[in-house]
Amino acid sequence: METQGIRIVWEVSMNTLQGRVALITGAASGIGRASALLFASEGAAIVALDRAAEVETTVTAIRSAGGRAIALLADSSAEDAVAGAVDLAVREYGSLDVCYANAGISGGLVPFFEETVERWTEVLKINLIGTFLAAKYAALEMVRRRRGSIICTASVAGLRSGAGCMPYSASKAGVISLVQTAANQLTGTGVRINAICPGLIETGMTRPIFEQARARGSEGRIGQLNPLRRFGVPDEIAQTALFLASDASSYVNGQAIAVDGGLSTSHPIVIRRE
Ligand code: NAD
Repeated sequence: METQGIRIVWEVSMNTLQGRVALITGAASGIGRASALLFASEGAAIVALDRAAEVETTVTAIRSAGGRAIALLADSSAEDAVAGAVDLAVREYGSLDVCYANAGISGGLVPFFEETVERWTEVLKINLIGTFLAAKYAALEMVRRRRGSIICTASVAGLRSGAGCMPYSASKAGVISLVQTAANQLTGTGVRINAICPGLIETGMTRPIFEQARARGSEGRIGQLNPLRRFGVPDEIAQTALFLASDASSYVNGQAIAVDGGLSTSHPIVIRRE
């Protein structure tokens, strides 16, 4: 893969998740879609959940490449839908080994005093309660088999301010806390749960930022705040999700892993120009 003039090469084994079953929410677009395609190419059968009809295109792409996948058009913050998605995975594919709770919304860039209870409720319901529901129903199934990996998409916005509006940041901090507490609630079960904290990734959610920058001719400045000095692409998050889904991460539990080009490692600094 090439992005912003940099070539990225991954070793591909093609069978890291052979025989595994993965439920992925938010699989119609961006990080969820890239993860669904990658997990399937590594042998997993996929239940791809999204409220957007484009989830069908993810499933079509997987099947065209010879993989197994089912599309589920549903709201990831609705309890019945999430419980039903876990049941569907077990019914169709015989188990649930991986759950990637990834669906989320940005909530826009609204200033503090213009925030409302309605917007907070919507963002928390999808980003935090939806993640809780996926983790809960997946874990209920996984505990029975005494194995499984749950992955949640948090954000660098959950680590500190400056990467999203207030309810978004609070929801992602909540996801990190959920992962830490759930890992301990699942003590002794063999089920692991971790979060990924992406930095700025070009997806459907961030499209307006990229479109505005391209329209202004300032695309080259996107992502310049991190030491790698570029934005990320969905495949770079999907690769971390694959690691967390696989046995390669068998001793990684309760962690929030930043995948952000190093953005979250520093206080703001003035970069000296040569
Ligand atoms: P995206 O908009 O491309 O994908 C998000 C998907 O989630 C969409 O397909 C959308 O339809 C789906 N979705 C939203 N609400 C849903 C609901 N209630 N039920 C079912 N599906 C729903 O954006 P993305 O960047 O790929 O987002 C994936 C995750 O990554 C989100 O949790 C987001 O907060 C997180 N994230 C993104 C970035 C970034 O820079 N793009 C950075 C940090 C974290």
